[in-house]
Amino acid sequence: MKAFEWEQPRDWGEAISMLDPRDLTVRVMAGGTALMLMMKSGVFQPTRLISLQGLGQEAGAIVQEAQGGIRIGALCSLTALGQSSAVATTAPVIIRTLKTLSNVRVRNVATLGGHLAHADPHMDLPPVMMALGATVKTVGARSSRTLTMSELYRGYYETALEPDELICEIVIPSQVGRSAVYLKCSTRAADDWPTLGVAVNVKCDGDVIEKARIVVSAATEKPIELVAAQTLLEGHSISPSRLNDCAELALAQAPLVSDARGTASYKKELLRVYLKRAIQIALKGTIS
Ligand SMILES: Cc1cc2nc3c(=O)[nH]c(=O)nc-3n(C[C@H](O)[C@H](O)[C@H](O)COP(=O)(O)OP(=O)(O)OC[C@H]3O[C@@H](n4cnc5c(N)ncnc54)[C@H](O)[C@@H]3O)c2cc1C
Repeated sequence: MKAFEWEQPRDWGEAISMLDPRDLTVRVMAGGTALMLMMKSGVFQPTRLISLQGLGQEAGAIVQEAQGGIRIGALCSLTALGQSSAVATTAPVIIRTLKTLSNVRVRNVATLGGHLAHADPHMDLPPVMMALGATVKTVGARSSRTLTMSELYRGYYETALEPDELICEIVIPSQVGRSAVYLKCSTRAADDWPTLGVAVNVKCDGDVIEKARIVVSAATEKPIELVAAQTLLEGHSISPSRLNDCAELALAQAPLVSDARGTASYKKELLRVYLKRAIQIALKGTIS
């Protein structure tokens, strides 16, 4: 590994000022779990790393809002996220997802901001956050903005973040009356990278599904909201035929790709089974 410079800013403004938008070998490092793998394999050779670890506790704080949502600082570790009572109350799907996300050593240092910014399509939390309707707040040299998760992800390891823009906060809206589920299918150990990830979030009035969000990931180049499939559910109660039609619409809409974890046709069969299963589980567990 070649030598590189190391900076430790004290706030977001200082971190932004240390970036060089013309030089992509200058990067921020949060937990470093993804970055170090890329550096060790030679995929990424930095000239300067800007550690976000000196930003202070507030940059990783979890705040419960009066309206029922939560704001999570980008430097929040995945372990702290998984141990948060605010997260457990507002969005228990995150707690369940974290149980099979990698291992405790990675979760102790990996941060939510780094997790979302890395944009590896196999990651578990991006589809969950998309299904929850989460947004990310960014700080940049010129301005700050709010992006939905669909706006954040552009493609394979590609986000809409400018080279001098960082994620500072993740906002999850109130989930009252909603029920969310994330199912991942891994072809190896349960805590391995998924072959397919499916996240479903429903809001019901009695038997009728008022709002539905369906997101597929891992089998696609980025997490994708399957809008046609979710529209088919809205305004109706579920029946076996509607569930089948929804799955077929999802299969038609999802641009599934082949990779080392399986062919696109194999993933198509997985999506058919896992999507129906996720919808049925979500419908059983509406949070009151
Ligand atoms: C052994 C192993 C197993 C894993 N298994 C899984 C798994 O099963 N499921 C899963 O979902 N994930 C898995 N992961 C991935 C893990 O979740 C990510 O590596 C981790 O979440 C990245 O967070 P980090 O803070 O370490 O990011 P870093 O490595 O610090 O950064 C990652 C990227 O994001 C950028 N970045 C960091 N913070 C910000 C910010 N605030 N704003 C903008 N850009 C930023 C960095 O410049 C870098 O490009 C695994 C990782 C390892 C090492």
